[in-house]
Parts: sequence; structure tokens; C-alpha cells
Amino acid sequence: MENGIIFQAYEWYLSDEGGYYKDMVLKLDELKEIGVTAIGLPPVYKATGTNDVGYGTYDLYDLGEFHQRGSVRTKYGTKEELKYLISEIHKREMSVYADVVLNHKAGADRAERFEAVLVDEKDRTKEVGEVHEIEAWTAFDFPGRGDTYSKFKWNYNHFTGVDFDNLTGTKGIFRIIGENKGWSLGVSGEKGNFDYLMFADIDLSHPAVVEELKAWALWFIDELDLDGFRMDALKHMDKVFVKDFLSHIKEAKGDKFYILGEYWSNNEEENNRFLEEIDFKSDLFDVGLHFNLHQASQNSGDYDLRQIFDGSLVKSHPSQAVSFVDNHDSQLGQSLQSWVAPWFKEIAYGIILLRKEGYPCIFYGDYYGTKGENPQEGLKDKIDILAKVRKDFAHGEQQDYFQSTSSIGWVRLGDEDHPHKCATLISSGDSDTIKMFLGEEEAGKIYADFTGNSQEKITVDDEGYGAFQVGPGSISVWVEDGTKL
Ligand code: CA
Repeated sequence: MENGIIFQAYEWYLSDEGGYYKDMVLKLDELKEIGVTAIGLPPVYKATGTNDVGYGTYDLYDLGEFHQRGSVRTKYGTKEELKYLISEIHKREMSVYADVVLNHKAGADRAERFEAVLVDEKDRTKEVGEVHEIEAWTAFDFPGRGDTYSKFKWNYNHFTGVDFDNLTGTKGIFRIIGENKGWSLGVSGEKGNFDYLMFADIDLSHPAVVEELKAWALWFIDELDLDGFRMDALKHMDKVFVKDFLSHIKEAKGDKFYILGEYWSNNEEENNRFLEEIDFKSDLFDVGLHFNLHQASQNSGDYDLRQIFDGSLVKSHPSQAVSFVDNHDSQLGQSLQSWVAPWFKEIAYGIILLRKEGYPCIFYGDYYGTKGENPQEGLKDKIDILAKVRKDFAHGEQQDYFQSTSSIGWVRLGDEDHPHKCATLISSGDSDTIKMFLGEEEAGKIYADFTGNSQEKITVDDEGYGAFQVGPGSISVWVEDGTKL
């Protein structure tokens, strides 16, 4: 969808009282109003408990329907409430993307004994000690759900590794021993082999597992009437499985079914290779751009803004790139903490929302604020303006004016359906002026800064140029004065 926006509708520290789905329904109108076209939901299936964000996945078929892990509902509410939220999203002609966690399972019903070997946490290809019997939580019987939707029950044969031995009380990464067992070879080479991330690591080369997960995916899509998937933790999953799984979905649901992957690497080569290996069947979060935004926000004045897109997907694969500023993992206190500093947030949102390249994703925590030990304020009012400018004025050809290390600008020249032009400037240092060309037909028109950061009015000269301004460490977005958002 042209100028679409994804809204990642959760942060790490949402209340676990179960009212989330009902709360989200009340937010849909304002999100629609600013141009959001897709809602990205948190993991909606039963996890280890109602205090689990959802990544400690217990039962993929329990969407808040069965009494398991201490409750019927998930952290977010019941399946009925979830279905109602989805119907309300669709009623507003927005899409629904669900989070899909297939790397691991947690909160097993029983422990089992089997052979395993401890590996070096820093290099998982190195064994530490001998193969021996351990006891770990790997049996999933789903007593509350029984055989409803699927008869499949999980046991240690369906996993590659665990992180705890009950017999000795040893914490560490254990590789499970067995026929055709071992870390997947098609994963990131970080830490020797990054198959293992957390909990009980799913063996994605086990034929019965593959069959079960493929069947589940189609059930999940139909059960909730989903429009897309966000694939979690792809860096830790077998590429052969990922490609096969995505082809299976596309074949069944068509190319319109949207797939977005989380491959957490800012190594451009690794990202490009991954996209090739999965045959470009998924878009990816632009982790490279996120780290550039983070870095620019850390080095005020020292960072060369002209390099803000270097190594990013919006530069190398613009049609596969989902640009984002922060998310539930990069936020303060989380596992991949790399928070874009508050002074740079509005600028960063200007960068993802007003450029031609990329499908931007607004983070709930940036919009409504985050809770937790170090709560952060939301930038709703500022993001509202930038998102509406994206919807109405950020169209057509884009011309860059990457003037200096601390100030860059670009114009969007509009198109047939969107005749207005829009000039964006950002500064990470002093205030600055950049002369940018809008077109001779704009001569004499007066432009104003829609962000409200500058109170000036700029008159376009006879040749169609405007000498646009930006304040120190700020953003200004110039559109013809009097135009309504
Ligand atoms: Ca894995």
C-alpha cells in the first residue's frame, strides 16, 4: 500500500492485567486517522504465564481459550477479545500482522531424561565434558487443550537444546544427542553457531515438527483472519526451514499475504545473504538503519548524517525494508538495548516516515510511552504530525541535499494525486539553512514548518528555490502555509 505505516502495537512493559485487547480497540480510530495501515500484534498464544510478553511460547494453538499455565487468557486477554479486536481493525480497513515465534518453546508440562552434552556458551560448536544423561523440561502434553485443533505432543526428540539440567542443577547450553540431531547449520555463525537462543530450542529439521508447524500456520491464519506474519528470531532458525515454511504460506495464501522477518544483525552482507537464501520471500526489519539512528543519537555533533543510510536495507533493498526507530527488544532494560536517545527521536521518525524508501513501523513505546524501571515519555503529538505529513505530502520524486556532517535535507516533489511538495531538514548540530528546489510553479508561495519547531515563514524565490531552515538538533518539515493536515 502506498505510504503505508505499520504500528507495532506493544512494548515490553504493558500491564498484564488482561485488558490489552480491549484497550487497543479504543486506540484504533486515532491510529487510522494518522495513516496507520497495519497493526502488528504481540505474540497472542499461551506463554509461560500471564506476566509473559509472549516470547516464552507454550502452546501455539491456545490463543487464550484453554485453562493452561494458570489461566485461560494470555497476558493480553482472551481469544474472544482478540478476535473482536481483529474484526475492529479490519472494519477500519487496516491489516493485522501476527507475531510468529517458532524458534523455541517454554513452560513444558513434564521433564524428561535424555542424553546431552554441555557446550561452550561463547562457541556452541565446542563441547565441554562428556555426553551424559540430563533431565530437562521438554514434554508438552497440553492437558487443558487435549487434542483440540492438533493431536501433536512435543517431546525431547523435537528439540535441539535446553539450558538447564534438573539432575545436577547445572545452568548452561546443552545440545541434545540423538539420531540426526545437532545444531542447525543454516543459522547465524555468531557464537560458533547461534541456533540456540533460549528455552527449549525447536529442531526445525525434524520432519514431524516441520509438518506440525506448517499445519499450524495455516490454521492460525484462518482462525484469526490474519493478513501477515512477523517472523521472530530468524537468525536462530534453519534457513532451509524458513524458506520452505514461507513458500508453503505463500502457496496457500498467495503473495498478498505479507511476511516480515526479524533478523537481528546490522551486518549488511549477512542481511543481504539471508534475503537471497530465503529467495526474498520476506521483508526484513532494517536493523542497520536502527543502529545508525542509535549511533547518531549518541554522538551529538560527531556523527556524519550524510552516512545515515550506509549499510541499511532502505539503501540496498528498499522494497524489502521495514524501517523502525526502536522496538520491544531495543527499548531500555531489554535484551538488545540500543535505544535512540530522546533528543533524536522526532528526527529519527522524520527519517523513517518522510523518505520514499522503506515501509515504516511506529513503535507503541515511542508513541504512547514505555513503562518499566526507566519509563520514557511518548511522542504521540510529534509522530502524529509526521505520520500525517507522510500520508498527505510525502509523495513522488525525492531529491537529496546532504549538505554537511550535521545537516541534511530532502524534498518530495509530489505526484498527480498529491500535488503538494514537502521539504524536510534535520540537524544534529547547529541551526542551518539549505536551499532546495521545489519547482518554478512554486515561485512566490509561502511555506511553513508543520512540526512547529520553527515559527518562520519561507517564501519560495522566482526560480522555485526555498532557503529552508532548521534549528539546532532539530527537524523542520516545510509545506505550503495554510495547507491542512
Ligand atoms: Ca534455534
